[in-house]
Amino acid sequence: MKLTIIGSGYVGLTTGACFAEVGHQVLCVDNDEAKVKSLQAGEIPIFEPGLESLVRKNVAARRLQFTTSTEEGVDHGEVLFIAVPTPPQADGSVDLSFIEKVAREIAQYLSSYRVIVDKSTVPVKTGERVASTIRRHAKPGAEFDVVSNPEFLREGCAVADLMRPDRIVIGGNSDRALALMQKIYEPFVAPVLVTDINSAELIKHAANSFLALKISYINALAEICEVSGADVLKVAEGIGADKRIGRGFLNAGLGYGGSCFPKDVSAFIAIAEQLGLPFDLLKEVQKINIRQVDRFLDAIREALWVLKDKKIAVWGLSFKPNTDDVRSSVAVNLVERLVAEGALVSAYDPQAMPKAAELPMASKIRFASSALDAAADAEVLIIATEWPEFASADLASLRSTMRTPLIFDGRNLLDPVAVRDFGFQYRGIGRGIVA
Ligand code: NAD
Repeated sequence: MKLTIIGSGYVGLTTGACFAEVGHQVLCVDNDEAKVKSLQAGEIPIFEPGLESLVRKNVAARRLQFTTSTEEGVDHGEVLFIAVPTPPQADGSVDLSFIEKVAREIAQYLSSYRVIVDKSTVPVKTGERVASTIRRHAKPGAEFDVVSNPEFLREGCAVADLMRPDRIVIGGNSDRALALMQKIYEPFVAPVLVTDINSAELIKHAANSFLALKISYINALAEICEVSGADVLKVAEGIGADKRIGRGFLNAGLGYGGSCFPKDVSAFIAIAEQLGLPFDLLKEVQKINIRQVDRFLDAIREALWVLKDKKIAVWGLSFKPNTDDVRSSVAVNLVERLVAEGALVSAYDPQAMPKAAELPMASKIRFASSALDAAADAEVLIIATEWPEFASADLASLRSTMRTPLIFDGRNLLDPVAVRDFGFQYRGIGRGIVA
């Protein structure tokens, strides 16, 4: 099938590449000229395992192309996917201006039947708005349907998630559009859930908020473990073994970050409020998440007393491992706060340093050439992102390169007993019994 993706970022590019991989003819549109030029030249602007080879292969097979022209995009695809940003506004609600602009642009070029699919994460009832906006701006009688098809991929394993999703959610009220959507997804082996548009939109915010809630739940438990002398890893194992609960998203740590969870939780609170329904449960989820970093910093201050002029090594800058994405990264937030107190931060991340180098804090820290280099002469090592390579660090070399053998493990990545055997003082999250 001929498909168009409008917005070629993390979601749009990966979705486009996976659709091309299963045989669809895909045109990816982006209004960022530099991004489109580099994609046309075979350069991938993001790090995502498996994506580069997938894009190259499908570009070579002429199943995947790129353009800056929305007009070409509307002409090409019988189904148009919108995958543009939906960032938060100051009050936590969603900025829908990107979506509205794309809807107007599509309307302008609409000449025959098209299905317009919202893949971006949007508040419930956005589909209705998109439809009325297109109707208002298109030629009279223009034929189209709007469908919601939220995306659940995880950065760091986006290709695998798209090729083998847990479920595909399609929300729509036109049989013609739903039949086309089912045909697009036929090559993917996954259960398809067909709903109305509003339910599909709600599923996405409800799912991300629930995952954030699980993280805050285990982080609240971590605090109880610290005070009571229990080990949150054992507690997580014990409760996670119950199939009704599940072990996933029960890793205590510095809390959730990234471009989705913080904004989606804020958005869901704002959506509920607009519907006249306060969602206090999610407000507590946010508070716990913020408190995790505050508590961690308090513990570091407690250990070092004054942070000014202290050499602090930070391992990890991306918001999670296997990605170069630093948007709303807890690791970056932590570094900014350390720098604000005058600490001398040396940071290392296996993939995210080029993206971190574009942030305002970049000029105030040293980017190290390796994890060990970051730790040279440091008074404390902070593990802020759980990259696998940090878990297998050479502890003997680390011990000899640091000035003071002190590790604050914000992701419970290292084994406290092994670390202590090398002479380190260690502090994880929620590990009262092993503290
Ligand atoms: P992104 O910023 O990586 O990509 C968005 C792209 O859209 C950019 O390349 C931008 O240049 C382009 N764009 C903006 N306006 C445009 C326009 N008018 N015409 C053409 N292109 C335009 O964002 P993303 O991370 O891919 O997220 C996109 C949406 O998907 C958001 O709603 C997000 O919440 C949702 N989502 C993201 C993830 C994730 O893990 N990143 C997962 C699921 C859902």
